Amino acid sequence: MSSGLLNLNHVVIIGHNVNVIMQGICEYINQLIEADELWKFYKSKDWIRLKRQVLSDQHHECQVCKAKGIVTRYDENGKLLQTVHHVNHVRVHPELALSRYYVDEQGHKQENLLTVCKVCHNRLHDRFEGSKPSGFMNTERW
Ligand SMILES: [Zn+2]
Ligand SMILES: [Zn+2]
Repeated sequence: MSSGLLNLNHVVIIGHNVNVIMQGICEYINQLIEADELWKFYKSKDWIRLKRQVLSDQHHECQVCKAKGIVTRYDENGKLLQTVHHVNHVRVHPELALSRYYVDEQGHKQENLLTVCKVCHNRLHDRFEGSKPSGFMNTERW
């Protein structure tokens, strides 16, 4: 075993993969969180590029509303939706910050990034109106 391999101790293991690039993202995000500067990630070129791609692929349509059969493409100001939500929250899964997909516990490939409207986004971030996040436990399907 070469000494170089010892550096892999800190690599994050995702599924069966040991990925050094993921480690880089992880460290970057964790540093931002520590410095309370996570907003910088959302201003990064990589994120903006990925976000634009997701918005375009999903036609600026809220994916949560869509699952309920409702078409929501505009915000309250009549502008096309611009918000992309991380199914795996960045603070919890920094390694997935720039991942379009993730593999769930059943081994299925799922969308990690969803176009969302403001109302749905608030709900997804714990601001539930009721006591239970009833229907939203189904996010894995989207
Ligand atoms: Zn919505
Ligand atoms: Zn979100």
